[in-house]
Amino acid sequence: MKTDKTGKVWLVGAGPSDPGLFTLKGMKVLEEAQVVIYDHLVGAGVLSMMPKDAELIDVGKIAGNHPVPQHEINRIILQKALEGKRVVRLKGGDPFVFGRGGEELELLSENNIPFEVVPGITSAVSVPAYNGIPVTHRDFTSSFHVITGHTRNKDEAEIDYEALVRLEGTLVFLMGVGAMKKICSGLISAGMSEDMPAAVLENGTSAHQRKVVSTVKNLCEDSEKTGIKTPAIIIVGKVCSLADKFSWAEKRPLGKLKVAVTRPKDRASALADRLREQGAEVVLLPSVRTEKRRDNRAISDAINNISDYSWIAFTSPAGVKIFFEILKEKKKDIRNLSGIKFAAIGSTTTEAVMQKGIFVDLVPEKYNGGELGKLLAEKVSDKEKILIPRAAIGTEDLIRPLEDKGLYYDDIPVYDTIWETGLAVKYDSSIDAVAFTSASTVKAFAENNKNIDFSSVTAVCIGEQTAKAASDLGMKILISPEATIDAMVRYMTEIFG
Ligand code: SAH
Repeated sequence: MKTDKTGKVWLVGAGPSDPGLFTLKGMKVLEEAQVVIYDHLVGAGVLSMMPKDAELIDVGKIAGNHPVPQHEINRIILQKALEGKRVVRLKGGDPFVFGRGGEELELLSENNIPFEVVPGITSAVSVPAYNGIPVTHRDFTSSFHVITGHTRNKDEAEIDYEALVRLEGTLVFLMGVGAMKKICSGLISAGMSEDMPAAVLENGTSAHQRKVVSTVKNLCEDSEKTGIKTPAIIIVGKVCSLADKFSWAEKRPLGKLKVAVTRPKDRASALADRLREQGAEVVLLPSVRTEKRRDNRAISDAINNISDYSWIAFTSPAGVKIFFEILKEKKKDIRNLSGIKFAAIGSTTTEAVMQKGIFVDLVPEKYNGGELGKLLAEKVSDKEKILIPRAAIGTEDLIRPLEDKGLYYDDIPVYDTIWETGLAVKYDSSIDAVAFTSASTVKAFAENNKNIDFSSVTAVCIGEQTAKAASDLGMKILISPEATIDAMVRYMTEIFG
């Protein structure tokens, strides 16, 4: 059914896998998409950038084990555009390099649907680059050629090997793993030296990329020994001899680590950025988000009587943010807090309070609720009253020491912790480790990944409480020696580097 609002389609290349190779323009149109139709070659890093409320259609996944046929994909794209939607058709690499992008535009142009093309970084050059192979080099070759190795259909022309050999350029074969034997013997029969360097590069630009560097004569045998699977490219030419000398990706401190980060999306970036700087492949699994409570009568009352309190204790940056939002709504500012002392659970919460122009008086040595509770019980007198604006699911450990000492306190839930569902990326066994920065993210992760065997998950935990939640589920646990993001990244570099 055609609506009066016309939709539009963006045909977008997602790059080879590393989300750092996704273009700025691609990211921008993806953020604004209402429908995203994507392939199996789109890397997990890009998949975790999917906009929250968009309809996600996975056409690489498989209904009854067959990928959705091309004519059906074309039809889905058209239908969504006719519904008036902003549609992103997201494809691995570049959409026009053996990506059937042209076929998808056919139907759109026939139906006068507006579209744009956002090119992507093709695997044909980026995968060699991540394996230390420059596709051209003045000492070796002056051209490179990209060829499909997929010639199974009768109507596809056979490869003209003699023409290829005559070019004396670097040859890059996509979709060639199944036809490797045919390709190598074809080149040799057409006159290529058997000793010509050649390589096969699997899962390029990801943490688990693998390469086999050999000669056209031995490539097939060597890659069978290694068990190379798709996606992989075959590259033939003298430039392959540089692969070891110029290898760099695996040499980065965390270059072989695929790690999932489970922080709430708005706070995932610091940890993810630090891990990426060290070369890790980061998959964002933002398992929880925080939402300000609509009913804020309790905290409003507390703020109206703020001078009754001697202490305010915060247990998260979200709590700090929401407290100050409500303070502002009540037409108050930090002058109304004068004389009040502040406690914070750990370093990021302390930082959030300091951002408001307030020094923190009390932070426990170990960053958890129980320790904060004990410290407050020690320092606060029985004439003083404590305000604790925090998550609705906050731990009882904080409250118990206050109760035991009979202190006055108001424990007020100001936000809810909501489990993210319907993510395009889920945990799978290719993920080497999952980084957890709170017990609630562990619970949310478990909720989002009900069917996995938790004993296969390696959980890197920011502190003891988080580790307890992970080990209760049966995960293998590693605990950061200090409860900070920096310490966590350093620790991971020691363990996995
Ligand atoms: N449009 C894509 C190519 C699609 S054809 C692009 O521009 O990259 C699919 C083939 O691309 C695969 O069979 C494989 O040969 C290659 N390929 C894509 N991503 C790859 C990766 N990360 N590592 C190795 N080969 C890859």
